[in-house]
Amino acid sequence: MTTIGLIGGMSWESTAVYYRLLNEGVRARQGGLHSADVLLHSLDFSDIAEMQAKGDWEAAGDVLADSARRLERAGAGCIVLCTNTMHKLADRITSATKVPFLHLADVTAKAIKRSASRRPLLLATRFTMEQRFYRDRLSAFGIEAMVPGDAERDDVHRIIYEELCRGRIELASKARYLAIIADAAARGADGVILGCTEIGLLISQADTTLPAFDTTALHVEAALDFAAPAESRAA
Ligand code: GLU
Repeated sequence: MTTIGLIGGMSWESTAVYYRLLNEGVRARQGGLHSADVLLHSLDFSDIAEMQAKGDWEAAGDVLADSARRLERAGAGCIVLCTNTMHKLADRITSATKVPFLHLADVTAKAIKRSASRRPLLLATRFTMEQRFYRDRLSAFGIEAMVPGDAERDDVHRIIYEELCRGRIELASKARYLAIIADAAARGADGVILGCTEIGLLISQADTTLPAFDTTALHVEAALDFAAPAESRAA
């Protein structure tokens, strides 16, 4: 099995989910006492969030490039960046390392392509919803994501940073997300991308009739397919 290098801590609430799902996935695929071969570099999210808020993407890119290099030197056979937002800086990682980088927007787009959805709603941080880096990557696969209106984007973003990244799961926030999804469905959305790795802590497929694309779960599946493919399964 290939060693999976995780750049995590953004926030650790979702990185913990990655770690659990990777191990559950290996157990499901290989059985017995098998578990995932993982190297995790978990960053201090306070520093990263400050750089994001200041728009200091250059400094954040330096941190990610350094983290990826350290994982590669330590033996990682691929890099998994456990946040959608920081894929804005994916190029900084791919130019700093030689091992494959499992891009989350590509993984998500491929999953959407396997479904009937072509116009999903994108729920994510303001950076991911408003800037082009993520939606353009989806567009390259023929997926034109919708985004919520301004007031809704404000709430979606605030709930991520003030609640989900701090381990707070609030029923009122779940209701707000579901209302935003229902409104988008009425405007033609035919799916919903949980485009922030913490959103799966708040809502899941069971909460909506639209197909839900949970980026954390999809990223984990892609990492397992890469690192522990069927042919490497234990007998
Ligand atoms: N984990 C989140 C994401 O998937 C938000 C935190 C961050 O800005 O990295 O975008």
